[in-house]
Amino acid sequence: MIIPNLKEAQKRTKNSVQIKTDEYKVSEELKELGKNKLYFIKTYGCQMNEHDSENIKAILEDMSYQETYDMDKADLILLNTCAIRENAHNKVFGMVGRIKHLKETRPHVIAGVCGCMAQEESVVKEIMEKYRFLDIVFGTHNIHNLPNILNTSLAKKELEIEVLSIEGDVLENIPVKRDNKYKAWVNIMYGCDKFCTYCIVPYTRGKQRSRTPEFIIDEVKKLLQDGYKEVTLLGQNVNAYGKDLAVDYKMENLLEDVAKTGIDRIRFVTSHPWDFTDKMIEVISQYNNIMPYIHLPVQSGSDKILKLMGRRYTKEHYIKLYKKIKELVPNAAITTDIIVGFPGETEADFNETLEVVNECQFDGAFTFIFSPRVGTPAFKMTDNISIEEKNNRLYKLNDLINRYSNEANQKYLDKIVPVLIEGVSDKNDKFLFGYTDTMKLVNIEAYNKYIGQIVNVKITSVKTWSMNGKVVE
Ligand code: SF4
Repeated sequence: MIIPNLKEAQKRTKNSVQIKTDEYKVSEELKELGKNKLYFIKTYGCQMNEHDSENIKAILEDMSYQETYDMDKADLILLNTCAIRENAHNKVFGMVGRIKHLKETRPHVIAGVCGCMAQEESVVKEIMEKYRFLDIVFGTHNIHNLPNILNTSLAKKELEIEVLSIEGDVLENIPVKRDNKYKAWVNIMYGCDKFCTYCIVPYTRGKQRSRTPEFIIDEVKKLLQDGYKEVTLLGQNVNAYGKDLAVDYKMENLLEDVAKTGIDRIRFVTSHPWDFTDKMIEVISQYNNIMPYIHLPVQSGSDKILKLMGRRYTKEHYIKLYKKIKELVPNAAITTDIIVGFPGETEADFNETLEVVNECQFDGAFTFIFSPRVGTPAFKMTDNISIEEKNNRLYKLNDLINRYSNEANQKYLDKIVPVLIEGVSDKNDKFLFGYTDTMKLVNIEAYNKYIGQIVNVKITSVKTWSMNGKVVE
């Protein structure tokens, strides 16, 4: 049993990162472990977690398990968790409660918690005290060891915890079962060294480790051969890609080399304004297959709050960067993240955030009320803003954001835009759905033959969060 340690997770050394190409192995014996058994995975949180779940699925299928989307039928249940906000935490423990009931009628079911919450010392202590009916807990650094963790738990018939609090390495041979046939996540880096004061990620995901360009380009080329149309380059702070490599090779070089593979669409998330270079903007403007869509979290418009958040840029820097992107990539859609109610945020600070929104007129934003995370510096800051006030601020902010989203979408009315059609809409099976190059959701009345293709679509009506359109033959 290895339990997480927050202090260890926080450590950063100068030790070089190991690139391991043969770390993942499944013994012949374990290849049959899941025969005639079903697994169910519930994923919480960001794209990084979604991609981790794709790895976990492939590992389980290497062990002969098969996927089910019905938790009540599963023999193995995994919750791949997110630690960013308190409500995600509560949702996971709500689900753990459901699993307890399920195990009462189906005691053979194996259930586990993995992902970012599993990396938190306080969460694992809580599991050890109150939820010992769970069978496995593992973290973000040792997904590849799942076959052995599972086997140990089955042999011992008790809770097996294996969570490593390490800086981490780069493992290159973990298999993947992709959820989408046309769009793929491609990790370009792991971890983060920014230590924004509210964020738990540097503790749960280790230090910044960039994958070497050769592995990334090879992965994109294979995806292209397999018919994929779009890749999203993934990392906690992709603009810092390459800073930890021994060679002089940065995000702009990677973007350019990925663009040269000829894949139709390239996206990247998430960007930190501090590391967004002019060269990157130039490369984005030069290649038609780098999508004109940038998610650029501002978090706050107040320099005082940005400093308390440890974000290392000012409101002025952010707006300058925003304008530079718009100047060189005029059709770019820019979205953002904003936190309201950070400790010490006054009405005047909040009004500065509204000023930034008015200045930038974002295409959209993910907005949140500050959520204190145990172990981060912001957890200890005095939070003297009432919940009513935080809700008022969020309401006011969302109102403004929605107005600008709608205005941005109105510009698309009657225009013809390229859309990658992904499948049949969940809400109305008469419609297909897809995304524009600028990441706008479009619902289209069209034949299924268009699924998986990038087609020209005329936008016929527009709402705040989506549009309707028809295919232009
Ligand atoms: S850059 Fe992003 S992932 Fe890294 S600490 Fe800041 S908010 Fe967290």
